[in-house]
Amino acid sequence: MRAMPDLPIYLDHHATTPVDPRVVEAMLPFFSERFGNASSRHHAFGWAARDAVAAARRQVAELIGADPREICFTSGATESDNLAVRGVVAAEPRRPLHVVTMSTEHHAVLDPCRRLEREGIEVTRVAPRPDGLCDVADVERALEPHTRLVSVMTANNEIGVVQPVARIAELTRPRGIVLHTDAAQAVGKVPVDVTELGVDLLSLTAHKMCGPKGIGALYVRRRRPRLAIEPLVDGGGHEQGLRSGTLNVPGIVGFGAAAAICRAELAEEGARVGRLRDRLLAGLRDRLDGVRVNGSLAARLPHNLNVSFDGIEGESLLVGLDDVAVSSGAACTSVNPEPSHVLKAIGVGDELARASIRFGLGRTTTREDVDHAVDKVTSLVARLRQLSPHAR
Ligand SMILES: *Cc1c(COP(=O)(O)O)cnc(C)c1O
Repeated sequence: MRAMPDLPIYLDHHATTPVDPRVVEAMLPFFSERFGNASSRHHAFGWAARDAVAAARRQVAELIGADPREICFTSGATESDNLAVRGVVAAEPRRPLHVVTMSTEHHAVLDPCRRLEREGIEVTRVAPRPDGLCDVADVERALEPHTRLVSVMTANNEIGVVQPVARIAELTRPRGIVLHTDAAQAVGKVPVDVTELGVDLLSLTAHKMCGPKGIGALYVRRRRPRLAIEPLVDGGGHEQGLRSGTLNVPGIVGFGAAAAICRAELAEEGARVGRLRDRLLAGLRDRLDGVRVNGSLAARLPHNLNVSFDGIEGESLLVGLDDVAVSSGAACTSVNPEPSHVLKAIGVGDELARASIRFGLGRTTTREDVDHAVDKVTSLVARLRQLSPHAR
């Protein structure tokens, strides 16, 4: 008999990840014995906090090939994206001004872009190819003489596709256009290096890489030349004036520890999780037909699988998956679930989008988890197809 996994099984690591016990251990002293304010300059309590923050800043910087002075701690990738998009535009007095992004970005980029539009900034949203990837020629065509910023994510949070950011940098660099990338899903999962990518700004967040929630960072290029951006939050001038507010020392320490673990284990862990993902897809395809992978399978994060199932009613899909935690291709907040903007953008119809599952594997995922998920999903889909009035 096969070993039974602990239930329910968590396969939603794109939404968030459990904090690694080693990270929790590193954080604990900073809630109590070492509670100091990293800005207190006149006593040992402050110095202990300051030193811990400096060490964590080095750990985070090392993971992405940055200089520690280029790391600005924020509350997470949402804030980093807002700071990048709004901060670049606010620092540039020229008008008219133009921003280029993609229709498949996270809402943390799309929503600030929409706000900028209401403020008179021109925004172009490049559509992806049907495989979810950005066609670099489309970005080139979108560029205008007054384009100030291009923002294209490193890896998509729904379909996991990895965008050709380095090739976009070859367009933006010579034109003096600022390039931002939201790398919240990529950092810690695949190698991410700010120099190789050629980006000026990069968003990341601890809770997607087995660190705590509520702490993230924005990489802001300092060299050749230093990039100017305006802060969103003014106050005590923390983080070189870019983001005021007393530093979240336990969070920052945890972020640093999480980054160090990812750096040490990335190659081995990426390969392990990739094999599990392949096993998951093979298991689904062995027992079902009409399984469609959404987005390029080749240019994809190792821990992502997004599939649609032909011929079923999507609403019943996640309800039936009682002990496997996954996300669907539709927001289930409303009576009539709104299909994901990402699946829509790559041409997946509403019906199929509702009948899709996003699997996100992670550090805690085992073979038993995957095999149990395959059993559950395949028997459920088979049952739903029998019930469905429009079965194929
Ligand atoms: C999770 C995520 C965010 C939001 O990050 P928070 O730290 O939760 O604010 C932004 N962008 C992408 C691509 C994400 O996956």
